[in-house]
Amino acid sequence: MSRPAFDFDAVLVGGGPAGSCAALSLVREHGIRPDAIAVLDKAVFPRDKPCAGAVSELGVKVLAELGVELTVPHVRMRGVRILDAARVGATECDMGIVAHRLDFDAMLLDACRADGVSVRDGDALRGLERIAGGFALETQSGRLTTRLLLACDGAGSTTRKLLALREPARKGHLYVLETDHGAGDLGVAQGLCDFDLGVVDDGLEGYYWDFPTMIGGAPQVSRGIYHANLSPRSDVKAVLARSLALRGVDIERVKLRPFSTRPFVPETVLWLERVVFVGEAAGIDRTTGEGIAQSMEMARIAARHVARALRSGGRTFEPYAREVRGSTVGRHLLQSAWLSKRVYAPRLGRPARDFLVESAFARESGARWYRGEPLPLVTQIGLALAMLGCRLGLRRTGAPRASAA
Ligand SMILES: Cc1cc2nc3c(=O)[nH]c(=O)nc-3n(C[C@H](O)[C@H](O)[C@H](O)COP(=O)(O)OP(=O)(O)OC[C@H]3O[C@@H](n4cnc5c(N)ncnc54)[C@H](O)[C@@H]3O)c2cc1C
Repeated sequence: MSRPAFDFDAVLVGGGPAGSCAALSLVREHGIRPDAIAVLDKAVFPRDKPCAGAVSELGVKVLAELGVELTVPHVRMRGVRILDAARVGATECDMGIVAHRLDFDAMLLDACRADGVSVRDGDALRGLERIAGGFALETQSGRLTTRLLLACDGAGSTTRKLLALREPARKGHLYVLETDHGAGDLGVAQGLCDFDLGVVDDGLEGYYWDFPTMIGGAPQVSRGIYHANLSPRSDVKAVLARSLALRGVDIERVKLRPFSTRPFVPETVLWLERVVFVGEAAGIDRTTGEGIAQSMEMARIAARHVARALRSGGRTFEPYAREVRGSTVGRHLLQSAWLSKRVYAPRLGRPARDFLVESAFARESGARWYRGEPLPLVTQIGLALAMLGCRLGLRRTGAPRASAA
């Protein structure tokens, strides 16, 4: 194979969790020479990323499997509370960690640098041209050529735009902020993550959250709101303002701007000739609006197929798409696309929301699902039936909000 014709064998556009983990997996798990790959990111690292920073246990496992030591400040998620109007259901279980993205993403990209990968941060992709056997990329600093392209450039993916890919579904909307702990942050004080589904009664398709976090070494609360945007709303910020006011936070005192997430749906395109879409450039969890761990796991699947293509000269990635969809993470993402429509439907979703607040079985299964564990088929069927409102006599443990607090 005449490599010198190209500057790189593979260029990864985007150095977030998807890009970094794909690069690390290529080098560490598949023996690809680090100088044959480049990671390009428009931002200069350490860069901040608007995010609550909840990395489920699946992501923690990927870190360990890639041999990356978790050296940045973080807190453990010790469980979950599901809130809905006056009720709360709590379940304690190890869910993963919360870390500040400024630290977490820099840790991953530093590991790529240390391995000898060509990391070009502060160098944005601006143009893309198909050439014989690969691509010519126009970047902020000049032109470079590559045989294969990994689009890991997140919700706004420039690569997708340059390849004229249509969005398969409306993007989710989020607002996020961090504050000090307040007297009412009872779940957070115990290391639990609060998901408040009460906002669905305000017309939103999503939840308000309070997560424990660590910023600059100090404990803080990550707060925010997620609207899956199955149907558009213009009042997401107003609903956030009401939720914050209930917790003693005045929205006027914080600067907020909206952010988007791309959902993974059945129509999601995962590859084109010589290109794979990885992480949020493909799509993330539509029910939770989360995608760090899923992107990290998808990156490892992508790396396996890219390494194979580099060795064989392959240029199509249908097997990648098939493996993603059939994997635990892919099934999770597809189930999540289905779930978002069930849980957040104003009236039809009521049984599902009641089930989550009232049933320990629902929360424990949900937590296992969140951690990236495959659920037995019988559990999946039981959950689906209960979500649809069939009474199964499952243990109900929801308590009035005041007494549970
Ligand atoms: C407000 C908010 C809160 C969230 N909270 C959580 C949470 O708690 N837990 C969770 O799991 N997920 C959360 N998410 C989702 C999570 O942030 C993403 O799913 C995750 O970052 C996806 O990783 P990625 O590597 O695919 O993309 P990203 O992390 O977005 O990385 C993409 C990278 O590509 C770079 N890039 C973009 N365009 C170009 C270009 N033209 N040239 C070069 N580089 C480019 C960007 O600079 C960026 O560094 C949240 C999202 C938002 C908006």
